[in-house]
Amino acid sequence: MQAWQIGVFTSVDAGLGVHLDVAQELGIPTVQIHAPHQATRTQAAADAFLTRTKAAGITVTCVFGGFEGESYADIPTTARTVGLVPEETRAARIQEMKEISDFARILGCDTVGLHVGFVPSDRSGTSYKSLIEATRNLLDHVAANGQKLHLETGQESADHLLEFIHDVERSNLFINFDPANMILYGTGNPIEALKKVGHLVRSVHCKDATWAAPDLRGKEWGCEVALGDGDVGMETYLRTLKEVGYQGPLTIEREIAHDRERQKRDIGTAVALLQRLKAQIL
Ligand code: MG
Repeated sequence: MQAWQIGVFTSVDAGLGVHLDVAQELGIPTVQIHAPHQATRTQAAADAFLTRTKAAGITVTCVFGGFEGESYADIPTTARTVGLVPEETRAARIQEMKEISDFARILGCDTVGLHVGFVPSDRSGTSYKSLIEATRNLLDHVAANGQKLHLETGQESADHLLEFIHDVERSNLFINFDPANMILYGTGNPIEALKKVGHLVRSVHCKDATWAAPDLRGKEWGCEVALGDGDVGMETYLRTLKEVGYQGPLTIEREIAHDRERQKRDIGTAVALLQRLKAQIL
């Protein structure tokens, strides 16, 4: 695959991504997809989806898992409901994530992605240790499918994400770097974070955001905005990706599914911005 192919986050029947026809219309060659609901994770649905992507010349680079009951309403709710961290739903979500990995394999995709949740800070605590065990269990299933798992960034600092990946001790665990999430969650300067974790980054989101006020960072969301309008600094972001040796796709994410027209327009503008910067930097 060529370096830095443009991509977009899409959804089949769930999630915040654009629909596949938008990627097709904008001539975008790669997509990450939000995993469809269980009822549509079938061979027939996979075949139909692959027929469409092949016709459009689109490659699926990552299938992201998401679960019923997750809510990003505010940061405390996200911490309570998202990913594999909440213990009451963990077993069921691991099982579902294994099924999503199986579905990704049918799609011929060697990568699955996940928000693991807010990893407990105490590395010697029982909740941290049980999360490590659970993640290993999932990763072994993912490995048997010949796949890697990419953790979405944002809910931890770069340092704690590195500690977690180190402690899991599995060779198929990598990072999907989202610079805007570092700003939205207030977990650190995204460029500094990228320099720290760059050796483990295998996919990225091109998303932008503005910081919450200093006294509110980590407590209230920053604001997700169109690519180039936020505090990430897209030119610095791409230059840093080059510096850390990243060559994978540049997957645009614009999380305004309530306004499909604007979402499509912003993605078109983002494609143009990334193409211009690619021509300068790559
Ligand atoms: Mg993201």
